[in-house]
Amino acid sequence: MSEMTNDSLTGSARMEKIVALCKRRGFVFPASEIYGGINGFWDYGPLGAQLKNNLRDAWWRDMVEAPPIGPDGHPLSIVGLDSSIVQNPKAWIASGHVGGFSDPMIDCRESKARYRADHLMVLRPKEQGEYLALFAFLEGEPEPALKRAKKVLRLSVHLADFETHLLSELNEEERSKVYGPDAAKAGTLTEPREFNLMFKTYVGATSSEDNVAYLRPETAQGIFLNYKNVLDTSRVRVPFGIAQVGKAFRNEVTPRNYIFRSREFEQMEMEWFCAPDEAASWFEFWSKTRLEWWKSLGVAEENLRLRKHDQDELAHYSREGEGTYDVEYRYPFTAPDFGELEGVAHRGDFDLTQHQEHSKTKLQYFDPETRERFMPHVIEPASGLTRGVLAILCESYFVDPERPSPEIMRFPSRLAPIKAGVFPLVNKDGMPEIAEKLYLELRTKFPTQFDVKQAIGKRYARMDEAGTPFCFTIDGETTTEQTVTVRDRDTGSQERIAIDSVSAFLSERVG
Ligand code: ATP
Repeated sequence: MSEMTNDSLTGSARMEKIVALCKRRGFVFPASEIYGGINGFWDYGPLGAQLKNNLRDAWWRDMVEAPPIGPDGHPLSIVGLDSSIVQNPKAWIASGHVGGFSDPMIDCRESKARYRADHLMVLRPKEQGEYLALFAFLEGEPEPALKRAKKVLRLSVHLADFETHLLSELNEEERSKVYGPDAAKAGTLTEPREFNLMFKTYVGATSSEDNVAYLRPETAQGIFLNYKNVLDTSRVRVPFGIAQVGKAFRNEVTPRNYIFRSREFEQMEMEWFCAPDEAASWFEFWSKTRLEWWKSLGVAEENLRLRKHDQDELAHYSREGEGTYDVEYRYPFTAPDFGELEGVAHRGDFDLTQHQEHSKTKLQYFDPETRERFMPHVIEPASGLTRGVLAILCESYFVDPERPSPEIMRFPSRLAPIKAGVFPLVNKDGMPEIAEKLYLELRTKFPTQFDVKQAIGKRYARMDEAGTPFCFTIDGETTTEQTVTVRDRDTGSQERIAIDSVSAFLSERVG
């Protein structure tokens, strides 16, 4: 068995392979594919839905059912919530989203394409010829701009012949010399304009401005809206957390990088309510705890990092607090750099104060011990469930060039969509019956797949691509010796174990 690698392919070549496998094996499909798709929307197929549920369940388990141990050595108090996607629009005015949840966008007058201004970069020749020409590209994708440069400059140039700048750093004259990513002529990009990312809809039978409502752009606000309900009805006391998983919608200017940035996605967010003078230390605690959580799932340490935001990157709510840490992952399209996986924001008392003011409902916390009243501060670990699925897909993709079907998804067993495969070696001599009986037993405890079709090697390969840790094969010896073959996904090695120990074998390894 050759050494298996997950870095023999890098960058876009690696990403293309992962996307192709996900399509072929039913992890992720473009939404409305038979109608040509719809940009920024994705559907999760049989394996993808199961993988996503497993990641969601792992988060819920480690956040709500068995929350982390706090700095005092005792378990933290966190409760769950499932709030509505559509809320009273006044909530989004109070939260600052209607007024301020926007990204700067730039249009191209020629191609009609639209870009997020802070994602647009330009190539500028190190040696300027007779006239200046600059070539815009979307961060991380300079190749098309280089191609355009070769054509316009009529020179065989390389990336090393250019400096890279943010488009926003250019002066007006330089901007007029920029070729947009999809334009044939220079100077077709507009000045940046703010574009609100909220999806609007209408509630009820008339579509007038009075009936406007919004699809939530984050799950967090549903938590703030229910903070008082939870406090009044459960036995939580500050400090405590409320956690929620669910869909969020953002009309992203440039959805891209597969499911990394989509217009409909899922978040796993927890709001941690604490005393103002303890917020700074909880901020540090949650940043580290969340980084460790991703590691505990099996994401390699060298592919993760914690990065504190610069002041100019902070969201409107975070400016009130101490800032934001990002847990970042090294995605193939950001490598060797990192991209956001989860944000841990110090939101101060921004949200509760805003909602108190706008709703005229008292939201201050009364501490029964000190008999003091104060507005809790909030630390928010906010991760993307669908973006997490992407990180797990990228992390698990391995290639073993010596296998006939070299692609293997080495999912951590906790997340693997299918935990075990059960196969009869051939469809005769009582093997299918024994295999089905074993399958029926195993599936009461583990998601198990029963497969009777095709040669055994093909069935193993299918399970490797689905990321199934173990396969059990019923063969001629099973009837005489009461044993089965176990095949290990990662090593491809096989051993025999007693048929009645299969369930215990699995419990020990994937239970
Ligand atoms: P960005 O700056 O990249 O637009 P953000 O910092 O605004 O993202 P948050 O508001 O902090 O993102 O959202 C919390 C998490 O939700 C992010 O860390 C990410 O995992 C996920 N997320 C945000 N926007 C998207 C999206 N468009 N598609 C998929 N996941 C997203």
